[in-house]
Amino acid sequence: MLNHVFRPLAIAGLTVPHRIVMGAMHLNLETLDDDGAALAAFYAERVRGGAGLVVTGGSAVNPAGSGGPGYGVLDDERHRSALRRAVDAVHDAGGLIALQLFHAGRYAPAGPDGGEPLAPSAVYSRFSRTAPRAMTEEEVAGTVAAFGRGARAACALGFDAVEVMGSEGYLINQFTAPLTNLRDDAWGGDPVRRRRFPIEVLRAVRASVEPAFPVLFRMSGADLIEDGTPWQETAALAVELAAAGADALAVGIGWHESPVPTVQSQVPAGTWAGYAQRVKRALRAAGHGTVPVIASNRFNRLTQAEDVLAGGDVDLVAMARPFLADPAIIDKSRTGADASVDLCIACNEACIDRSFGTERVSCLVNPRAGHERDFPARPSAGRRGRYAVIGAGLAGLEAARTLARLGYKVEVYEEADEPGGQFRLAARVPGKADFAATVRQREEELAGLGVPVYLGHRVGARDVPLLRAMDGVVLATGVRPHRPELPGADLPHVLDYARALADPDALGPRVVVIGGGGIAVDLAHLLAGGLPAPTAEEFLASRALTAPSGSVTASARAAVRQVTVMRRGGRIGTGIGPSTRWVVMAELRACGVRLLTGVAYREITPEGVVVEAEGGTTLVGADHVVLATGQESRQEVAAVLREAGVPFEIAGGAADARALNAVRATAQGLRAAHRV
Ligand code: SF4
Repeated sequence: MLNHVFRPLAIAGLTVPHRIVMGAMHLNLETLDDDGAALAAFYAERVRGGAGLVVTGGSAVNPAGSGGPGYGVLDDERHRSALRRAVDAVHDAGGLIALQLFHAGRYAPAGPDGGEPLAPSAVYSRFSRTAPRAMTEEEVAGTVAAFGRGARAACALGFDAVEVMGSEGYLINQFTAPLTNLRDDAWGGDPVRRRRFPIEVLRAVRASVEPAFPVLFRMSGADLIEDGTPWQETAALAVELAAAGADALAVGIGWHESPVPTVQSQVPAGTWAGYAQRVKRALRAAGHGTVPVIASNRFNRLTQAEDVLAGGDVDLVAMARPFLADPAIIDKSRTGADASVDLCIACNEACIDRSFGTERVSCLVNPRAGHERDFPARPSAGRRGRYAVIGAGLAGLEAARTLARLGYKVEVYEEADEPGGQFRLAARVPGKADFAATVRQREEELAGLGVPVYLGHRVGARDVPLLRAMDGVVLATGVRPHRPELPGADLPHVLDYARALADPDALGPRVVVIGGGGIAVDLAHLLAGGLPAPTAEEFLASRALTAPSGSVTASARAAVRQVTVMRRGGRIGTGIGPSTRWVVMAELRACGVRLLTGVAYREITPEGVVVEAEGGTTLVGADHVVLATGQESRQEVAAVLREAGVPFEIAGGAADARALNAVRATAQGLRAAHRV
């Protein structure tokens, strides 16, 4: 039961229907040349699925505050028009929408007219790889005024609330942190002056709107950087914001430059709730306990939100990516159909990694996200047709459910005894346990849609009569591991990555993994780190974060095995998204995994792998050698389909093994279902 989630709450003059806020996400839909059509469709679909209060992605309050070319700027009439359309769509669907007022500061790629970004002080950013220019006092005052103008624009556009973006290391947060505020004037020099900018921004916003208009402020609960805002100053800021008229405080965690992961799959769910609870306790102690506090970061199930809300020190929970993964997460959870929720697996591959560039944000487990107008999801009355999907990996499962949702008769044939393909195997990797939930969800959804899945059925020539009865086929037979031409590759202690993932316990204490892509890294992580994944408490303790302000280094873990990853090229972990690669590589280092790059393989012997590296020949000892040297497409069934004369589309690894990744696989499954 989700009794605490499904209770309304008043925020100033606004009653939100339940305690889940759809948190801000930058989507790269904001500046599409479609007058806000895709943006409006994206938000409206989530409201129809039960979202109550939606917070938009950040809208820059002036051109200098833009986070990049995909960010809308409130001074731009085209952006305001797109927002107006989004507001109308959300209201028509029965929801509430808040505009996030944003300024990137030193996280902007460049300042106005291509110049340097603006920030409190000229402190280089590793994230944006730019050195900002310190704002003049006039520019500071002008930016405060721009936030006020932004709030007026929000009212004029029909928004129900605004949220001031003051966390995650953006401009306002840059003023509060000693690291980035080196000023010694009215806006910096001591804690009180460092807090002046957020307070003045809030005052400007407050003064620009009616008293009953809700103003939310997203503050940083922990910067997680060296010389970040100390806890005492964070607590004081919360109290001062409440006193200055903030109607709710959302608590963000970490900066983009932080050495501590905050939203990656390796971070246990609910890890950061304690920071929001501390903010609430600080407010209570200062007599502002009625101001709602919103926890955020790393929740993907409503049951987790329920637990935190039941604890009493948090009033709402913001979830963002889970709404990408399943627009109906609220309604499905409300009716107890939790197992039918498409869980966000915290991969970041189609969302956060894209949001740093200009590619449209979407979702690995829900490739319709961001493309709602391109791919209708609901069954259409009177649709006829019978389709087969061959292969029940991620691409095939996506194609099958899409065809079935559209109202077609679908049947799935899979030669393995279980669905899910490589994705199911990946669920064994530390931090990826939720991958198994994705496969289970597909099984359940297909069963609900009446789609039979024939396991252990290898499609061949005997199936030609069956295939001739189809109106179309999606071929998603996936890949097989590539076996390199290497002396000794057929020795009994050499196995491919799929076998190693399927039965890691069968491997000895010393393992060499040949290959340096994402699969090799996952394998090394599994073989060296073992399971179970850490709890939230263990995660925080490993970063010395059990106290509010601590150092931020990862501690070494006892390795389960001695693992060496080697590759010919120069970089291990290519293909892993930028928001995740550094986290996994740090985990490998913490587990003592040896990384060898630029090696020339000579042969595999019973004792290990002989390589040439750094000018010499070396034997790297191993009890087992695992080949993670790429894949080959499996398209044998295409000949059968041609013989049957049935139209077909190829999706996933079967289409192109070299460019295979899970995001591409599900997107191709979706597209193939609409095209076939
Ligand atoms: Fe979650 Fe991955 Fe989808 Fe992003 S792409 S919303 S992290 S499942």
